[in-house]
Amino acid sequence: MAEKTLNPFEIVQKQVFDACQALGTDPAVYEILKEPQRTLEVSIPVRMDDGSIKSFLGYRAQHNDALGPTKGGIRFHPNVYMDEVKALAMWMTFKCAVLGLPYGGAKGAVKCDPKSMSQGEIERLSRGYMRAISQIVGPEKDIPAPDVYTNPQIMAWMADEFSKMREKNVFGIITGKPLIMGGSAGRNSATARGCVFTIVQAAKRLGIDLNGARVVVQGFGNAGSFAAELMAQLGSKIIAVNDSKGAAVNPKGLDPKAVKEFKAKTGTVKGFPGSCDASNDEVLTMDCEILIPAALENQITSQNAAQVKAKIIGEAANGPTTPEADEILAKNGVLVIPDILANAGGVTVSYFEWVQNLQNFYWTEEEVNSRLERMMVAAFDAVYDMHVEKKVKMRDAAYMRAVARVAEAMKVRGWL
Ligand code: NAD
Repeated sequence: MAEKTLNPFEIVQKQVFDACQALGTDPAVYEILKEPQRTLEVSIPVRMDDGSIKSFLGYRAQHNDALGPTKGGIRFHPNVYMDEVKALAMWMTFKCAVLGLPYGGAKGAVKCDPKSMSQGEIERLSRGYMRAISQIVGPEKDIPAPDVYTNPQIMAWMADEFSKMREKNVFGIITGKPLIMGGSAGRNSATARGCVFTIVQAAKRLGIDLNGARVVVQGFGNAGSFAAELMAQLGSKIIAVNDSKGAAVNPKGLDPKAVKEFKAKTGTVKGFPGSCDASNDEVLTMDCEILIPAALENQITSQNAAQVKAKIIGEAANGPTTPEADEILAKNGVLVIPDILANAGGVTVSYFEWVQNLQNFYWTEEEVNSRLERMMVAAFDAVYDMHVEKKVKMRDAAYMRAVARVAEAMKVRGWL
């Protein structure tokens, strides 16, 4: 039977409800956490290149700021809607809490198709969005960042617009900026690096030697390509990678750097010399020790979960595993490092960027990477220990740790 497609906001509400039940929290905790503290919907008029004015819908959701100012990316996409933004904001609260960052969660979006817009139109839209949300954001209130179809250049325009409005440079308003404008060293590879740190810990706990271990990476984009390179540096064998156009499979192992160069030239990994193609399902269910989904949501489902042969799944992507698939994987003894832990390296280095901006003191890439490792390992250990102690899935343990932290902060603040 096909799984019912759940609204992402309902999925995260259920995850939080279950964690509250498992922890036996005061009912007020769920009552407060089930909705964002604030949502804003704005209309942004933009002068288009042909001289006409077009209005775009924009959103910002701030879920919970008990642990600190809220933080979360801005997505430019034609299909965004408020419930998706609310769900993403809630996930950010728990991602930050599981890592122990002094942040709550937020998310923003503009309903637009950036692929059909000129650079000038995107710049005017970005500046207009920042003006429209400027009253509720700020380095001590809510700090945006890039997400799907937004990038360092867009962050630079937004930081510039906010700085003009405040009549001084406020680089700490946004993270994911270009290096020259207060960006952090190591941000590009941070999500993959964080994911690999958690895989290393998981392999140690399960007694798997990563030197020579077979690794499959689904989605060879930013997160996936860096993850493949970092795993190869540990001596693992990258036996398959894919993207939306096809796969590159080679049981003897692929050179991720060469695959990256090939994809830069051809637009896909498919056809990489010495490799063969495979379907997305074949890639996900290939015989391997480590599977890294780094593409989209809902990839491992009730339809293919039973065929997954990996021993460890490191969720670089957000939401790659459906709740039903999660149950099947747990029953089959597959250790899933959940997205809110496995891909939290991105927001962690965003936190480092904000700290550097506030101090006007910049760190080397080595400093960034070693601090990231310390934080990822500590969070992994805390989640893994709870998974063993309470006999719950890693995902449930991650939510329990995160909800417990937010609940404790709300309690000492007198909200409960
Ligand atoms: P990206 O656009 O750089 O890469 C995505 C890749 O997935 C592309 O290569 C694309 O071709 C591939 N893909 C798309 N559909 C596919 C399919 N059906 N089968 C196989 N491959 C497919 O994006 P990214 O920044 O690497 O993000 C990937 C995932 O990681 C997303 O879920 C994102 O939310 C998550 N994530 C990314 C970051 C980050 O810092 N980049 C941080 C946290 C989470």
